[in-house]
Amino acid sequence: MISFENVNKYYGDFHVLKDINLSIKEGEVVVIIGPSGSGKSTLLRCINRLETITDGNFTVNNISVNDKKTDINKLRRNIGMVFQHFNLYPHKTVLENITLAPINVLKQSAEEAKKTAMYYLEKVGIPDKASSYPSQLSGGQQQRVAIARGLAMQPKIMLFDEPTSALDPEMVGEVLDVMKALAKEGMTMAVVTHEMGFAKEVGDRIVFMDQGKILEEAKPAEFFANPREERARLFLSRVL
Ligand code: ADP
Ligand code: MG
Repeated sequence: MISFENVNKYYGDFHVLKDINLSIKEGEVVVIIGPSGSGKSTLLRCINRLETITDGNFTVNNISVNDKKTDINKLRRNIGMVFQHFNLYPHKTVLENITLAPINVLKQSAEEAKKTAMYYLEKVGIPDKASSYPSQLSGGQQQRVAIARGLAMQPKIMLFDEPTSALDPEMVGEVLDVMKALAKEGMTMAVVTHEMGFAKEVGDRIVFMDQGKILEEAKPAEFFANPREERARLFLSRVL
């Protein structure tokens, strides 16, 4: 579904992604871990073209993303993204936050969009918050709204960039549970996280990044029991 071939990216002179080769199959959950500054967010942001790559080939469903002819809006519609900071509109209700893009981008009727929004709010466990404003919700609830908002666009791929890093510890579990359920249903997911329990349990594959490179790629059981790279070992000794 997603394929990076020898992808490089520079920010000015700074070589942020170095020879990235990575593919993600339909229904797969790939967990990207690594130290701060290693390029994890940049890699995710390249997937939905929030960032452009400098060279190499990057395809989504065999469509070359760096081709000028590619309709980026169409591509983005298939890719949902959830950020560390939920990025909800503070002056819109939960329901309005979720229905905005389906109405404006997918041209759904207000009624249809509301029905879809309520379906996903049920799914993330907070249908009773539809009329609330983001500030009236806990961090965990806001993040679940952000996930419902992503899902309401009916994407084929969901990207998560440290979705629980800004949450109080007692709210981490409720968000991870929603992500776990989504993975079980077969959603294709790329997840950047420091939650090693989640990575072990839900990940089909672990990708370990350091200094802009993918240093190691392995099944979770293999990676956590016996990381091949010294750098990965050091990282694990610090986070586990
Ligand atoms: P991670 O998510 O693994 O912490 P990032 O992808 O955010 O890493 O950043 C990788 C490196 O690129 C960092 O050194 C960061 O400072 C740098 N960087 C990120 N965004 C930009 C930008 N827009 N311009 C210049 N440098 C950036
Ligand atoms: Mg990051």
